[in-house]
Amino acid sequence: MKKTLLALGLGLALSVTAMAAQDFRLVIHGGAGNIVEGRFTPEEEKAYHEGLQAALKAGYDVLAKGGTSVDAVKAAINQMELNPIFNAGRGAVFTNEGKNELDASIMDGKDLTAGAVAGVTNVKHPINCADLVRTKSPHVMMVTQGAEKFCAQNGAEIVDPKWFFTQHRYDQLKKAQEKEQIVLDHDGAKKTSNAELYIDPLMYDYKYGTVGAVALDKHGNLAAATSTGGMTNKRFGRVGDSPIVGAGTYANNQTVAVSATGSGEMFIRTSAAHNVHTLYKYVSQDVQKAGDAAIKEVGEIGGSGGLIILDAKGNYAFPMNSKGMHRGTIGPDGKPMTAMYGTEKLRHYSSK
Ligand code: ASP
Repeated sequence: MKKTLLALGLGLALSVTAMAAQDFRLVIHGGAGNIVEGRFTPEEEKAYHEGLQAALKAGYDVLAKGGTSVDAVKAAINQMELNPIFNAGRGAVFTNEGKNELDASIMDGKDLTAGAVAGVTNVKHPINCADLVRTKSPHVMMVTQGAEKFCAQNGAEIVDPKWFFTQHRYDQLKKAQEKEQIVLDHDGAKKTSNAELYIDPLMYDYKYGTVGAVALDKHGNLAAATSTGGMTNKRFGRVGDSPIVGAGTYANNQTVAVSATGSGEMFIRTSAAHNVHTLYKYVSQDVQKAGDAAIKEVGEIGGSGGLIILDAKGNYAFPMNSKGMHRGTIGPDGKPMTAMYGTEKLRHYSSK
């Protein structure tokens, strides 16, 4: 369609631009979980909506100027990595040992290049570090000190690990550890298995806040990215789905861009993000149906969470089986639309 219009000559060049301007879109999430009405104060609701709005605007600025979908998802995620209310960058949850170990991945739907890092502790923007792996190395994934060294050598901003400390996340760790102790003391025989502790939804009531972004740029390219601190009280080098390409993140110009949030183990076991691509490609070409089917599979093995999905035509969906998901979108009108609760409609939030 665009090519046909271009072929008609300069006279129609304006309508090509006008039409292309309709095309771009950014969709983001700020984590899924037990996000129900009554649980958050008006101030907290405001902080989430405004945090999402700031991220949407950062990505919009890139896309509106004709920037790439890869740069847009990075800009949106960078914004959320700086905002302590999200479980990514500053504000990341704590491991059992009281550390912050960060995971991130990014994928370009144009050429299927991807980059990921896991367990990094001193990179200010893990998503930028993941993109360095994608663009400056022949690899897809690097972990821990190796990833840190590589990213520092390639210009990533390095910070003291204390940068990631926030009191509210530390308090969540302490609470989770207290609950764990109670479970072990009172229900010991049944619950001493680590596997059960990891997936006990009660234990991990604190896991919302992972961030993700998917974008379609004016050039018709899709990209996806996800960044997280993982799960409160995680241990032994645990890595979730967020840095796993095909589980937490996937993008392909032929189909969709996807970012996941939720109980990572089940998203890995169902290859959730790639599953959406496959379902879209071979079953329905419908973002909502493909997403619902992928989430159903996650649910069938006890997982919960949500997905953001955007296709190359600009259709998007937020399938979830959790109670809610911090989420939002922005298109050519530049109006950020956000929501938190399960059935809540996207709206242009204003605290006034
Ligand atoms: N999926 C993330 C993980 O398992 C957590 C989350 O999305 O809340 O590490």
